[in-house]
Amino acid sequence: MSKQRLVIIGNGMAPGRMLENLFGLTDAYDVTIFNAEPRVNYDRIMLSPVLSGEKSYADIIIHDEAWYSAHGITLYKGEKVVSIDRDARTVTSDRGASAAYDKLVIATGSSPFIIPVPGKDLDGVLAYRDLDDTEAMVAAAQKGGRAVVIGGGLLGLEAAAGLRLRGMEVTVIHLMPTLMERQLDTAAGFLLRRELESRGIEVICEANTKQILGKERVEGVELADGRIIDASLVVMAVGIRPNVQLAKDAGLEVNRGIVTDAIMRTSDPDIFALGECAEVGGMVYGLVAPLYRMAKAVAEELAGQASTGFIHAETPTKLKVTGVNLYSVGDFAEGPDREDIVLRDAVRGTYKRIILKDNKVIGAVLYGDVADGAWYNELLKSGESIAERRDTLIFGQAYQGGGATDPFAAVAELGDDAEICGCNGISKGMIVAAIKDKGLSSLADVRAHTKASASCGTCTGLVETLMGLTLGDSFVVPEAQGMCPCTTHSHAHVRRLIKAKELKSIPEVMQELEWSTPEGCAKCRPALNYYLVADWPGEYQDDQQSRFINERVHANIQKDGTYSVVPRMFGGLTTPDELRAIADVADKFNIPTVKVTGGQRIDLLGVKKEDLIPVWADLNKAGMISGAAYAKGLRTVKTCVGTEWCRFGTQDSTGLGVKLEKFLWGSWSPAKLKLAVTGCPRNCAEATCKDIGVICVDSGFEVVYGGAAGLHIQGTTPLGKVATEEECIEVIGALTQMYREQGFYLERIYKWADRVGYDHIREVIMTDLEARRAYYDRFVYSQQFAQVDPWAEFVEGKDAHEFAPLANIQLEAAE
Ligand SMILES: Cc1cc2nc3c(=O)[nH]c(=O)nc-3n(C[C@H](O)[C@H](O)[C@H](O)COP(=O)(O)OP(=O)(O)OC[C@H]3O[C@@H](n4cnc5c(N)ncnc54)[C@H](O)[C@@H]3O)c2cc1C
Ligand code: SF4
Ligand code: SF4
Repeated sequence: MSKQRLVIIGNGMAPGRMLENLFGLTDAYDVTIFNAEPRVNYDRIMLSPVLSGEKSYADIIIHDEAWYSAHGITLYKGEKVVSIDRDARTVTSDRGASAAYDKLVIATGSSPFIIPVPGKDLDGVLAYRDLDDTEAMVAAAQKGGRAVVIGGGLLGLEAAAGLRLRGMEVTVIHLMPTLMERQLDTAAGFLLRRELESRGIEVICEANTKQILGKERVEGVELADGRIIDASLVVMAVGIRPNVQLAKDAGLEVNRGIVTDAIMRTSDPDIFALGECAEVGGMVYGLVAPLYRMAKAVAEELAGQASTGFIHAETPTKLKVTGVNLYSVGDFAEGPDREDIVLRDAVRGTYKRIILKDNKVIGAVLYGDVADGAWYNELLKSGESIAERRDTLIFGQAYQGGGATDPFAAVAELGDDAEICGCNGISKGMIVAAIKDKGLSSLADVRAHTKASASCGTCTGLVETLMGLTLGDSFVVPEAQGMCPCTTHSHAHVRRLIKAKELKSIPEVMQELEWSTPEGCAKCRPALNYYLVADWPGEYQDDQQSRFINERVHANIQKDGTYSVVPRMFGGLTTPDELRAIADVADKFNIPTVKVTGGQRIDLLGVKKEDLIPVWADLNKAGMISGAAYAKGLRTVKTCVGTEWCRFGTQDSTGLGVKLEKFLWGSWSPAKLKLAVTGCPRNCAEATCKDIGVICVDSGFEVVYGGAAGLHIQGTTPLGKVATEEECIEVIGALTQMYREQGFYLERIYKWADRVGYDHIREVIMTDLEARRAYYDRFVYSQQFAQVDPWAEFVEGKDAHEFAPLANIQLEAAE
């Protein structure tokens, strides 16, 4: 039977989700999409992290080109549909393309509302809706100056925070007396204002914009009371209007949005409206959770399944500004039949308000401590009476029944309907069912199958606790606490903030991120030192005092206090001259043991600390540099003999190993990095348990990664196949750089990949060639500052005090 033709106008988040649902149910449709934006489907919610520099466009793509071709979708990018002919059942774009449909879905989203004041069309006046707006803001911020953001709602404040992090002076002007008044009460609005002001954002409330000043470009904003604020950029974020013109012109019933029934069918039975442009049950929506419920309803209807249709539910609001915690859900307006329970802690900056009606929760506003948001929302949705727990309600779920319970118990008590992932509308029951039915065991699996925690990620901790609860001991819930006792910031936060706030030294990080100790500790200093080395190549001066003893003295300390010294042998190759020099050194300094390591290098064991420098000097003279066998960085590239000597070899594995090691040596990474190149699938170099491995095959090279062979043993996962050595080196350079930029200190590459998702890494490195190239280029750039032999520096007298006998020794397990 031939397929039905499904045409979609708009390629935003709602139709993207609708198609995922649809393809899971049927393949009965040939799909054509028209998108006015010239790109694939991306996560609009994450534009704020792109604006603040915490994410890139590549990070927020939801469906890449490969996804569209895998599903046979015709995607017209940068083509706006200008008419719908309901008699002929066709749509036509502004560039003349037309498509016939059996079913049509209108998903045109909204447009930002532009206040009709004089000057609104000047250069430098922007809205905040799509990637182009975001990129224009980033470009404007590069020139510095002051940004005026008109609108103190969710979007305006995210724009303000992002532009501030980009280094602009920022003023927010807001018509109402408090910020985000639609979501927050005045007390929470005040706390939010105070927090933003402490970050250097000026907030002017009760301010009405009279006009935007300037000749061609914006120069300032004049308020109704005559005040003038200088500005080089004005961002309008005062609301959105559903895009309904197309539907109106086609004669469909339109109110504020395109009017639909509960299965999102418009007044024409073959046309559906979906997303922000739709009006269902008299309401229009501007957050993704309800849009995703619409998406499900449309998909079920198109697949011919009985659908419960769209049902209204309160959607919580969160502000995605790093370090600002607020949560608001339901109705918090004043009223004679309402009661409030309020908790304030001025010192901690926490505020909680629960609104009750007839002993039921109808709203909650939390600021500072938002951990109980999901629980209050569940009480709101279930409508259960709180009469019995009224006295303890405000303290949160942990305090019900008297004492504090552990977080596991708190999550265990949540009902199946409790919403865990707000962005994607995923409930506890859905996650538990997916874990059990599909045998999921990692966060990446849960993300891939349910989408929970795959958007803004604020629910990741909750999802992990739920996994721990469902999987028992087989899942270790990562600790969601600060990176060490000196800070409450997690590694993820610190990494993001170093980039976003452009922090370039350890004291700067500690000052800006409010470390609670003056100098940090043995946990945070090495981590910060690594993050700064990796993030600011050529600018940051490595801090030796923040390194453990092995890295400080460039040798592995052994259990008797002597050291082991390993010269580098690129790809495992050596020469008679090198071997002679090693033998001479061993004789000269009475080195008791000479051993071949697991990584095919020669280890001189039992070197006294005071002999380290002369030993290195002699090895240096013979042309050898440090093998960095101590490094949280590139250690070895192991090889087999490949085509040069072996009958089975398909490629020159030794040659490639040497090239890779010459390319990668000197680079620091979150944890040690060991590679191997093996000349055929017989795998003599054991590439399939390395951090990164290459298996040479007839058609080229298969790159694998994420293996481990220490206390934890695991095989590698394929990244992809490439045809040439050049590509292989580019892929490995890019992968290494992605890991260097995203890994947490001491997080091995396999743990990082578990955390961010193997599929995601594959997409970035193997599919998005631009992103791969950018990572590769950044790696190459950083290598020019990294490839300095540490031994040579020490031989020339660097840090001589370190090698005086009786130095204070800090032990670190040699790996
Ligand atoms: C900066 C920002 C932050 C946000 N943060 C959050 C958040 O934290 N939480 C949350 O829940 N929501 C958030 N939102 C809102 C959320 O992103 C939207 O509700 C959601 O993306 C709307 O999806 P949609 O598919 O209805 O429309 P859109 O994603 O707007 O997609 C509509 C698409 O249709 C295209 N189009 C329009 N007309 C035509 C035409 N005639 N022909 C062809 N194509 C057309 C448009 O170019 C657009 O690409 C945020 C929005 C922004 C802008
Ligand atoms: S708010 Fe975003 S991810 Fe959360 S609940 Fe959200 S992801 Fe899930
Ligand atoms: S991996 Fe293959 S090519 Fe390499 S030595 Fe073993 S058999 Fe030979």
